[in-house]
Amino acid sequence: MTTVQAGSARIIDGSAVAKAIREEVKGEASALAARGVQPGLAVVLVGDDPASAVYVRSKGKACEEAGMRSETIRMPATTTQAELLAVVDRLNADPLTHGILVQMPLPKQIDPQAVILRIDPAKDVDGFHPVNSGKLFSGDLSGFIPCTPLGVRELLLRHGIETQVANAVVIGRSTIVGRPMAALLLLAGKGGDATVTVCHSRTRDLEGHLKKANIVIAAIGRREMITGDMLKPGAVVIDVGMNRVDDPTTKSGTRLYGDVHYPSASAVASWITPVPGGVGPMTIAMLLKNTITAATRVAAR
Ligand code: NDP
Repeated sequence: MTTVQAGSARIIDGSAVAKAIREEVKGEASALAARGVQPGLAVVLVGDDPASAVYVRSKGKACEEAGMRSETIRMPATTTQAELLAVVDRLNADPLTHGILVQMPLPKQIDPQAVILRIDPAKDVDGFHPVNSGKLFSGDLSGFIPCTPLGVRELLLRHGIETQVANAVVIGRSTIVGRPMAALLLLAGKGGDATVTVCHSRTRDLEGHLKKANIVIAAIGRREMITGDMLKPGAVVIDVGMNRVDDPTTKSGTRLYGDVHYPSASAVASWITPVPGGVGPMTIAMLLKNTITAATRVAAR
């Protein structure tokens, strides 16, 4: 993997790794198609949240580029829970659909947990169903793992970053990022075996924990909260944060910031992920990978 110098830290180029994974996925998709199974992902978008619409479009495009079948189901913001569950039931029964993703957040009248519970765990490529999170937390890798922490694991593995015997601090305890990230770092074997501390908004002395951390995973949702002076020199810093703020000086009118203050952190860290171009591109790459896994299991039946 090529690296670029930034401050003293080497940059973990998530865009390059994601591109490589998407190429691998393309090869696997064409091998499956030759066996008569074209991997298929269905994405359900309820309502008209502009950010969600962008994510859904890019997921569909990524699928098509990888030679996979993609179906996007758009439903109005007034959709009832029963109507959405009926769509999930249809997709659960559809043999052409190997992966199902219901884009979050959902409108207020729909209970997201009821929707997650309805998705067939064998098609739950987001890895949010309790059957899949239960497997991960019991150290069983036969389920699906949420795409963002799985992408972080892949970045660490592909850069030869040693997690064994490391003190890892995960900041954030969400079911989407923080908790599954901690569970992955706790697994026995390569990419795991870390001593893991999970911090959150009620943690006392976050800095005290960070000063002992060889690996820091920031999944907070607070722009540039982690600064270089809070880190142990030589730490590996993975910034999951995506904080979009208005910026009229840019073409899009917005700018993306991480949870880590990049200029100060990159002067102290040994490795660091930039935002954008770090963890972000890995999420879609791992979604494709999970869909391939789901289709491969069907092909093997
Ligand atoms: P959540 O809001 O669900 O969780 C944030 C976590 O950070 C919570 O556990 C919260 O603690 C903790 N936290 C908040 N403030 C502090 C603080 N001052 N000190 C310590 N901990 C704090 O967010 P997500 O996990 O969904 O996402 C986290 C970030 O990652 C966001 O910026 C999001 O946009 C980004 N993200 C990026 C993805 C990607 O593809 N790159 C994918 C998913 C998310 P508590 O539980 O106590 O409230």
